[in-house]
Formats: sequence, C-alpha cells, structure tokens
Amino acid sequence: MPIAESLARIRERIAAACHRAGRDPAAVTLVAVSKTHPAEAVIAALAAGQTVFGENRVQEAAGKFPALRAAHPALQLHLIGGLQTNKAAEAVALADVIESLDRPKLAAAIATAITRSGRSPRLLVQVNTGDEPQKAGIPRAEAEAFLRACREDHGLAISGLMCIPPAEADPAPHFAWLAELASKQGLPMISMGMSGDFETAIAHGATHVRVGSAIFGARPPV
Ligand SMILES: *Cc1c(COP(=O)(O)O)cnc(C)c1O
Repeated sequence: MPIAESLARIRERIAAACHRAGRDPAAVTLVAVSKTHPAEAVIAALAAGQTVFGENRVQEAAGKFPALRAAHPALQLHLIGGLQTNKAAEAVALADVIESLDRPKLAAAIATAITRSGRSPRLLVQVNTGDEPQKAGIPRAEAEAFLRACREDHGLAISGLMCIPPAEADPAPHFAWLAELASKQGLPMISMGMSGDFETAIAHGATHVRVGSAIFGARPPV
C-alpha cells in the first residue's frame, strides 16, 4: 500500500479510537517510526502531511534527517531507541524529543550536552513496565525516584513517560499504569502504543503513539 494511503488509514483509526474514548484527536500525536526505511519513505510521508518521525538509532537518524529538516522546517524528530551514553551529545544535537531516558548516567550525559549545546530537546523517561531483564527502561519500582533525580540532581525538565509493554502481554494494564504515573507526576506527554496496540493506548490516555510497520511496511528482521 502506498505510504500516503496507509498514513490516512492510521489517522482514521486514531480519530476513531479518540472518538470511542471521548478524546480530542488533536490531543494524540502520530509519531511515524521510519527506522530501517530509506529517506524516500520519509519524503513520501512528509508529502502526505506527516511531520513527526521516530528513529531508534542516532547514527541512522543522523544520516537521514538533517537534509530533510532543511527542506521541511516543521519536521520533528523523536529518538525512541535505547541510547548509549557516548551518543548523548549527538542525540541532543539531533532530536526534538528523546523518549528513552532511562538511567542516571544517561541523565548526566544529556544534562552536560544540553548545557554545552544550548539545545534542549524535550525528555521522556522510559519505564520498563514489564520489568523485563533484557529491555531498556527504568524498572517500575525505581521510576519515581529516577524522575526526582533527573529533576533535582541533574536539573532536567522531564516532559513525560514512555513504555514498551512485554510483547506477549496484554498491554492495557501497562498503559494504565504509565498513564497513572504521568498524572501523579503532572507529566503532559505519554508515549505508548505501536502498530499492534495504539488504539488500546489511546483508550488509556496516550498523547503520542509510535507507529512504524503499519505505515511503512514490514522491516527486515534484525
Ligand atoms: C520500532 C519501534 C516502534 C514501532 O513499532 P511498529 O510495531 O513497527 O509500529 C515503536 N516504538 C519503538 C520504541 C520502536 O523501537
């Protein structure tokens, strides 16, 4: 299916999910996850009116986005993948939103990069809501202490939370938990929901859904 058409379908599904939840569709931002797909795919999406994109690797994003940004000033880039501390400066230089802040060392590196560059991407803390050992994200039980440390020890403004529920689990309780923590902490951005579960995420209050394969097609296996 052409990208313009799959984008239109996803937008319709987002609007319908908002309608069912009694939410304003304008309150949900579609982050089009273009990882592994070439710049041509991003250009096709831009032509169809999509301006917010997500990438999970700094290197790949650095190769694709700066040239596109010059031609499309409204373009917004979210970095959504696990971030190595030594990539923090490049991430801060490149991203409008970093969704994967998940440990003290990374918070320190991002804080340094913000001070040095004068550039301040919005920051989301990624929570490993399933407490899966192999997965990025701060463990559930440490999330509130980590948020406090980001603010108080590192002087970072945190805008929201992000999660990726366990692949085999019902995502709903994970989404509900994340939304509750965001509300408790007064955090406006809640990034949750992917191709397979974004409607459930919207029902639970997602403000940002990260949709890749349902827009750009299947990715080669990693
Ligand atoms: C790849 C990715 C997505 C998009 O996944 P799809 O299932 O292709 O929609 C969303 N969030 C993160 C963090 C990802 O790495």
